Amino acid sequence: MKNLKLIFLGAPGAGKGTQSDIVAEKYGIPTISTGVMIREAIKNNTEMGLAAKAYTEKGALVPDEVVIGIIGERLAKDDCKNGFILDGFPRTVPQAEALDNMGVKINCVVSIEVADDKIVERMSGRRVCAKCGASYHVAYKPSQDGVTCDKCGETLSIRKDDAPEVVLDRLTVYHNQTEPLKEFYGKKGVLSLVEGQEEVQDTTALTLKAIEDAIAKI
Ligand code: AMP
Repeated sequence: MKNLKLIFLGAPGAGKGTQSDIVAEKYGIPTISTGVMIREAIKNNTEMGLAAKAYTEKGALVPDEVVIGIIGERLAKDDCKNGFILDGFPRTVPQAEALDNMGVKINCVVSIEVADDKIVERMSGRRVCAKCGASYHVAYKPSQDGVTCDKCGETLSIRKDDAPEVVLDRLTVYHNQTEPLKEFYGKKGVLSLVEGQEEVQDTTALTLKAIEDAIAKI
């Protein structure tokens, strides 16, 4: 099995989390989501969580050095040695450079392309499990009973940063700070653009094709 080191790029709410879960299961590698790790830290009132809270609530990015630190520790763990998927990291060019400096050689970057107006519509329907981090959507990916998490039974909630005005700020942050990564990875020859489709499985088919093409080149 080739050692897939994959990054999902795309605006918040483009469907990176859903695609990450599917790909993680198919290839038997872990998904590492800085957003999930940060929300967990906030919930547990850790030092990092306290430092991150104000940024996430207003839709801003947590400082690079904080996320670079947590990703470095996470990638050093044993379960990453056969490959991994990064969801929500890197989000700035310095974060991508930090991966290079750690000697992490990314071999596939899939950017899920979804128009801003569609993103706003999607985010308003997102529901999350504050306990295990699972993510649902009232229309596209409802939980079985629409109220509680399929994985752990917790009552689903709406993320504070999914409020419409915060979503607009997060989109601005995405375009200004994260989108330049397309050029960064395009130059390295590892970028694939995938048009987000109405149906999740149609996006998945395009995503898996992009990944298989990348694996063939490893
Ligand atoms: P996400 O669930 O990926 O949308 O992340 C939620 C929030 O966590 C973001 O709006 C940021 O405030 C913070 N965050 C997650 N990942 C990063 C990152 N790589 N760099 C900076 N902030 C991040």
